[in-house]
Amino acid sequence: MTETVTNWAGNITYAAKELHRPHTLDALRTLVAESTRVRVLGSGHSFNEIAEPGPDGTLLSIAALPPEFDVDTTARTVRVSGGVRYAELARRVAEHGLALPNMASLPHISVAGSVATGTHGSGVRNGSLAAAVREVEIVTADGSTVTIGRGDDRFDGAVTSLGALGVVTSLTLDLEPAFEVEQHVFTELPLAGLDFETVAASAYSVSLFTDWRRPGFRQVWLKRRTDQAPVDFPWAAPATEPLHPVPGMPAVNTTEQLGVPGPWHERLPHFRAEFTPSSGAELQSEYLLPRSTAYDALYAVDKIRETVAGVLQICEVRTVAADTQWLSPSYGRDTVALHFTWIEDTAAVLPVVRRLEEALDGFDARPHWGKVFTTPAEVLRGRYPRLGDFRALVQGLDPESKFTNAFVRDVFGD
Ligand SMILES: Cc1cc2nc3c(=O)[nH]c(=O)nc-3n(C[C@H](O)[C@H](O)[C@H](O)COP(=O)(O)OP(=O)(O)OC[C@H]3O[C@@H](n4cnc5c(N)ncnc54)[C@H](O)[C@@H]3O)c2cc1C
Repeated sequence: MTETVTNWAGNITYAAKELHRPHTLDALRTLVAESTRVRVLGSGHSFNEIAEPGPDGTLLSIAALPPEFDVDTTARTVRVSGGVRYAELARRVAEHGLALPNMASLPHISVAGSVATGTHGSGVRNGSLAAAVREVEIVTADGSTVTIGRGDDRFDGAVTSLGALGVVTSLTLDLEPAFEVEQHVFTELPLAGLDFETVAASAYSVSLFTDWRRPGFRQVWLKRRTDQAPVDFPWAAPATEPLHPVPGMPAVNTTEQLGVPGPWHERLPHFRAEFTPSSGAELQSEYLLPRSTAYDALYAVDKIRETVAGVLQICEVRTVAADTQWLSPSYGRDTVALHFTWIEDTAAVLPVVRRLEEALDGFDARPHWGKVFTTPAEVLRGRYPRLGDFRALVQGLDPESKFTNAFVRDVFGD
């Protein structure tokens, strides 16, 4: 490539031979039909080589296609182009008095890229972002469009699809009436005796943060819908000023706290769209386990606390409701997600990632598809009972494996 293209974190430089940004759907179809190997680059917020087509492949960005936002206020749905970012989508949806059920910690990420990796927010009753998808339109290997909606046998493989089916040009999402949220932050929640189920269910969306420098959690973020029960959180002290979850970072980057009510899309993400999310210089890993194992899994991490703390900026613990999507890390089980924002040093971080994976061995941990992990592919395969169905779907839509890269081949064991 003439230009150097990296992911958001800068730890991956794509080796693709070219990057194309088609301006029309027709140009995109022609490009796909004439290419031998293609991967789509969304907003590039993944931390691994999931988007890499390889040195002989084409990287394709759909960010230059005209964005579409088709809100149906009667059906309460929105049809949106795949390359649109959640910040823009949320603003458009809110203008119609409607809401997405949940958001990730940041609104900077593209819709198609997020649901392709199983990206999620938090909440014991909230599914991942992919759970809101009711239909996807995919430009497949020959340049034609396939539409797959709920009720189609292929649907559960078509949303969290690792980018392996084709170019997701648009998606239709479920909406609900707009709601307001208050954000309440508490400090110093002990781990000893933690009733995880009660704490995790104490608001619409709950996140626990720790640096693992000592036992317990430094911060708890409760996102309470104002149409739900008042906050009752006797286990920790309320914060008296706005806080950033990453120690030393300015709270101005974060969404409003101290219980001030506001629109759903200005409270559900932790970070404001106009600022750098998280710390900005980092790597990330995340493991999704059965929620029933949360307390034991947290103790397993606590046992290697000093090792983890040595390369950690912050750890966040969230929950995700079970879903039916074959490659979703929360497939078939209510989930606890243990997230780690590491320092920006791959060589120092990887041995700790391996140590952490050993500590979580026995908890059936599924790594986040878009983050750093070293779990061997044969172990991963045992954790996705519907992987064979997904593989058949890929073969059906893309018989010449135009969209299958090394990352996906590894998952398949090829
Ligand atoms: C600061 C930060 C905070 C984060 N917070 C969260 C969080 O709260 N929760 C969480 O779960 N994750 C989180 N993530 C991870 C992030 O949500 C995922 O990596 C997600 O995939 C990013 O979307 P993207 O558009 O950047 O995807 P990319 O990284 O660009 O691509 C991811 C995959 O999607 C495919 N893809 C992208 N667009 C298309 C398309 N149109 N058609 C077909 N395939 C496509 C790519 O080929 C690739 O396989 C965070 C990441 C960062 C950097």
